[in-house]
Amino acid sequence: RIKEKFRYSKVIFFNNLSDFMEKTLVILKPSAIQRSLVGEVVSRFEKKGLQIVGMKMVSLSDAILEEHYAHLKEKPFFKRIKDSMQVTPVIVMALEGLEAVDVVRMMTGPTNGRKAHPGTIRGDFSVSVQENIVHASDSPESAAVELKRFFTEEEIFSYPRPTFANLYA
Ligand code: ADP
Repeated sequence: RIKEKFRYSKVIFFNNLSDFMEKTLVILKPSAIQRSLVGEVVSRFEKKGLQIVGMKMVSLSDAILEEHYAHLKEKPFFKRIKDSMQVTPVIVMALEGLEAVDVVRMMTGPTNGRKAHPGTIRGDFSVSVQENIVHASDSPESAAVELKRFFTEEEIFSYPRPTFANLYA
């Protein structure tokens, strides 16, 4: 009977968890590709427990960058940002997990690599504001928009994780 009760409470627990599962968009920028940091960065997300549900290499057009960085379009450095995002193709990733947007932003660190704490991706690998290795969505709302910008529905996968219970128990 105890076993049954335990199992029951676990089911309730996991039902609630699914309300907080999120997907977020990460871009491995040309600075990551050029400096051979792709494996290192992907590995950090994997080891943390985020699930890769989409991943591909793409060249970013002017149009998609003007949309993606619309909030910076009037800045004097906008052309530089655009150019720096086009020196190599990039890798776009969709990551899923409990509160994934915040978790990934915390792992990424603030924009300026010189101000980012050691232990974060930007803090460990960047000394630049512009060449800061990764982009990560900053809210669940922008994650939804950004995932649609870079992935079709068929390119985002849903598959079981045998480690789910270990990760979120
Ligand atoms: P974040 O990427 O941390 O969300 P923003 O959305 O403000 O930051 O900026 C988008 C990207 O534009 C930054 O990651 C960085 O590559 C670049 N950028 C932002 N501000 C500057 C700046 N002052 N000079 C050069 N590049 C910048």
